[in-house]
Amino acid sequence: MTLIDDAARTYELDRRHVFHSWSAQAGLDPMVITRAEGSYVWDGEGNRLLDFSSQLVNTNIGHQHPEVVAAIAEQARKLATIAPQYANDVRSEAARLIAERAPGDLDRVFFTNGGADANEHAVRMARLATGRPKVLSRYRSYHGGTQTAINLTGDPRRFPNDAGDAGVVHFFGPYLYRSRFHARTEAEECERALAHLEQVVELEGPQTIAAILLEAIPGTAGIMVPPPGYLAGVRELCDRHGIVLIIDEVMTGFGRTGAWFHSATDGIVPDLLTFAKGVNSGYVPLGGVLLGERICDHFAHRPYPGGLTYSGHPLACAAAVAAINVMDRDGVIDNARSIGTEVIAPGLSRLAERHPSVGEVRGLGVFWAIELVSDRDARTPVAPTGGGSAIMSDAVSTAKSLGLLPFANSNRIHVVPPCTITPAETREGLDLLDKVLGRVDDLIA
Ligand code: PLP
Repeated sequence: MTLIDDAARTYELDRRHVFHSWSAQAGLDPMVITRAEGSYVWDGEGNRLLDFSSQLVNTNIGHQHPEVVAAIAEQARKLATIAPQYANDVRSEAARLIAERAPGDLDRVFFTNGGADANEHAVRMARLATGRPKVLSRYRSYHGGTQTAINLTGDPRRFPNDAGDAGVVHFFGPYLYRSRFHARTEAEECERALAHLEQVVELEGPQTIAAILLEAIPGTAGIMVPPPGYLAGVRELCDRHGIVLIIDEVMTGFGRTGAWFHSATDGIVPDLLTFAKGVNSGYVPLGGVLLGERICDHFAHRPYPGGLTYSGHPLACAAAVAAINVMDRDGVIDNARSIGTEVIAPGLSRLAERHPSVGEVRGLGVFWAIELVSDRDARTPVAPTGGGSAIMSDAVSTAKSLGLLPFANSNRIHVVPPCTITPAETREGLDLLDKVLGRVDDLIA
């Protein structure tokens, strides 16, 4: 790697002083990113890469959107910070814009700094509102890296952090390609996954369960769109037992699936909904919990025992107001939906036909997963869940060398570009993926 300008110094200082997430520090080789625009980033050697990852699936509006950047700069000049106990114009406006787009009676926003703390607070609210200790969440899920959020998480990232006393019980959600229920159709998978969850609730004791927490569509864990009726079935189960339903829309919210929020798709309204990422594309950290009437009423005359210094930070809220207004005006959500149906869905189907290493493609909007297998009939993953493999490392470095920044997890490559991506850019990325998959085919042969 030949780094240019200041990139060599950036790299050297990073390696000496920056402690990176989720990694052993020795042997790390982080790519230097020097600038970005729209769907592209530039690395330290001056190469342009198409960002098919939206970073960590957050730059829904693309990189460096001029109106969002200007809104942050203007807000910084006017009022750069203000404590959460004061009312502030951009916080009020961001809350209005978010609440107006949320399903049902989710009318009030508790702002956080990101997705993990949104889930921490949602769970705390549910426990306080019900007086019950336990929370149920899926095995294949990711809910964040803070203590409660990592315990809620189902994927193996929780193991080193799990003392076993978090009051969390995991269950299997629907995942037809690797069905735990021996289902052959979506309808069977849905029915059996709901019956399984009902059994878990019964065996755990409904009177001990504060909440069921679910991603609207599990994201990092594999983009398994729940079959029609699944979320409605979970809602009904919660209603029957007075359990709070928390839907995590941190990754799915704000356009990713071609809708403001995916949970409304099954016609359901959760009691609490958590969001972050796409709310302002991560230009300034922001997350939050949307509260419906049931939970709001509980805290009407009792203090809520929780808060954050930067709750509803004005720079983050100014970015959210600008981002949401741009998304509305420019039809960004419609773009995400039509890119999904008209470009990504047919493009990935063609790739699945051409490449024996593709086990399944699935998703919607700009939210897709390609499952890579070494044997299609046996559905043998090319890497274990939560782990890496030489094949996956090779696929990622091949993609980068071709000018494509991918999002990879376990045995999957996710196709998660910005919601603003154009059809031509999407086709460019799919052509590059074709080459990457050709390389994976060779490696599994
Ligand atoms: N929930 C989901 C579904 C996520 O995908 C993530 C992050 O990827 C989180 C929560 C955690 O969000 P954050 O990293 O902002 O804390």
